[in-house]
Amino acid sequence: MTAAVVAPSRALDTASTPSTPSDAAAHEPTFTELGLPAPLERAVADLGFVTPSAIQAQAVPALLSGRDITGVAQTGTGKTAAFGLPLLAAIDPAQRHVQALVLTPTRELAMQVADAIETFAAHLPKVDVVAVYGGSPYQPQQRALAGGAQVVVGTPGRVIDHLERGTLVLDDVRFLVLDEADEMLRMGFAEDVETIFSRAPRERQVALFSATMPAPIRRVAAEHLVDPVEIAVARQSSTVTSVRQTYAVVPFRHKTGSLVRVLATSDADAAIVFTRTRGAAEEVGSALVERGISAATISGDVAQKEREKIVERLRSGALDVLVATDVAARASTSTASASSSTSTCRASPRPTCTASGAPAAPGAPVRR
Ligand code: AMP
Repeated sequence: MTAAVVAPSRALDTASTPSTPSDAAAHEPTFTELGLPAPLERAVADLGFVTPSAIQAQAVPALLSGRDITGVAQTGTGKTAAFGLPLLAAIDPAQRHVQALVLTPTRELAMQVADAIETFAAHLPKVDVVAVYGGSPYQPQQRALAGGAQVVVGTPGRVIDHLERGTLVLDDVRFLVLDEADEMLRMGFAEDVETIFSRAPRERQVALFSATMPAPIRRVAAEHLVDPVEIAVARQSSTVTSVRQTYAVVPFRHKTGSLVRVLATSDADAAIVFTRTRGAAEEVGSALVERGISAATISGDVAQKEREKIVERLRSGALDVLVATDVAARASTSTASASSSTSTCRASPRPTCTASGAPAAPGAPVRR
């Protein structure tokens, strides 16, 4: 096993974190200076956002001025608000038809982005946001669309299904976002994305976000964006000095066994295991339970109330290990991290374990 101690860094890549040396002397913008309409500024203040993150400081004014943008930014940089706020500024709440479409690669991200946009819209006159994704019944989505939702956040496959059924019409879309575009192409959605672009009006604003900018993404941008403002923010990390990070490179078939051993030798009060997909979360959760570890799984499928119950069990000590997809965990575990000693393991594609609190005692089970 290899162990690594990481350098301290900030929880959010705010504009106060210079991405280039020349930024160091630059003036730090405030949300007021970004030019957002008052109801959006109020929503941001309600959320406790004080300083715009680097991507927000650059993307918001560009989008508000009507430009297309490409943003090289990862989750955790504040990119949802970077496009969500200007998107809401661009729509007319009085018009009861779809005016903005956000495409995301996964249902979890679609739900998360839709929730965030709803929160940003709290002080706007009635704006309806609907998340459309596969693996979930059509009817509630159809009802929300027919009810005049102005913002649609969806996965490409289900968006195409709604287009084909005639339940979604993009004729009046004026704002299109591709979130995690590299992931979308990696998952084979290139053709669906092309179809969706071809169904939207030529006169529209486009924001494309991607963690990386390989040639296929550049081609999409060259084809569908007009003279975009290109924004890149430094990779951000959310680790702090009190967190020790280690990782182990193990053959795929030994991953779960290794994870069990790591958990068995940790004396953390509680542990959170992150997986990339829902399927992996369920698989790892069952494997841990089979090996006698008190574990529960949460994913985007588990209702918020149920997630809260599971997190409460983790906090109270009734449960030792929580297995979760990143997105589900993000929405559920902020309270869990308040416990005195926690360890987290990323089980896929390479297991990464992070522990805070007391050092590991070999041989001791995960216990509180
Ligand atoms: P995102 O990268 O959009 O998923 O955002 C990551 C997290 O940062 C979310 O929990 C946001 O609510 C939070 N966040 C976004 N912008 C800011 C900001 N300017 N200040 C503080 N927190 C923020």
